[in-house]
Amino acid sequence: MLTRRDLIKAGFAIPILAYTVGSSRLIAQKKMSSARSCGFYVMQFGTFKLVALEDGLQMLPFDKLLTRTTPEHVRSRLKRDFLTSPVPVSTNAFLLDGGGRRVLIDTGAGSLLDSEVGLLPHGLNAAGYKPEDITDIVLTHLHVDHGGGLVRAGKIAFPNATLHVARKEADHWLDPAKRGAAKQNQQETFAEAPKILTPYRDAGRLRLAADGDTVIPGITLILRPGHTPGTLEIKVESNGHTILFLGDMLHSEQVQFAEPDIAFTFDEMKAQLSPIVAQCWPRRRRRNTGWRSPTSRFPV
Ligand SMILES: [Zn+2]
Repeated sequence: MLTRRDLIKAGFAIPILAYTVGSSRLIAQKKMSSARSCGFYVMQFGTFKLVALEDGLQMLPFDKLLTRTTPEHVRSRLKRDFLTSPVPVSTNAFLLDGGGRRVLIDTGAGSLLDSEVGLLPHGLNAAGYKPEDITDIVLTHLHVDHGGGLVRAGKIAFPNATLHVARKEADHWLDPAKRGAAKQNQQETFAEAPKILTPYRDAGRLRLAADGDTVIPGITLILRPGHTPGTLEIKVESNGHTILFLGDMLHSEQVQFAEPDIAFTFDEMKAQLSPIVAQCWPRRRRRNTGWRSPTSRFPV
């Protein structure tokens, strides 16, 4: 059974990123075994400054990873967008700066994946922020490519931040009984979740969220079980506009928006997920409502 670590180590070559440097886009360079770069992109959303942060790039073989379909059908869908599998997929996080707070949505993989992800700290620094500046972190879910950046060498990487995680998500991945009954590709998350959450819990910085909780006025957490049992959608409203941060509710917008019954191999509860993805498409088209996904092509 494929794990996330297997996926990244499987030899899907990661190309060199080469973003154009524009007036609102800067690039942070990081020396690695191969030339790499990471980036950020700043936009204004109502009263918030919204910063998209790229943690890295993965090549995902969607013809193998999308389920409840056939490889041939996936390749055909991708071809309509001039894409072939494997597809370069960004791993994105987002920072909302406003209301006297700096709220980070997901943290990237940190050092918990042996791959060319984990670049978020460099983009954050290039955007003018230090880890100490972050007041709140909302974790969409506990998969390691979203939460691994919370810790560095076993210690809190964002020393002044309160961590918001759905109680349902924490309860699931910290439950030894559930770990004992888990499939192989779920074991990685059961193993990593305590390493990610315990330092924040011990420091009194872990807030277990319920459906409908707010981080600050305008930022609401909505429970969306499907990809994982306690996935959170983050709804941000400002000046009459709404933006939805979807977490991993979809991985291939080219395929899954059109056919939301098609799932991803790591989706835990596929039947619950597809109606949510189906809702996203008309919502995307509704006036004044946008969406962002960690797997959208950076920086959108
Ligand atoms: Zn995930």
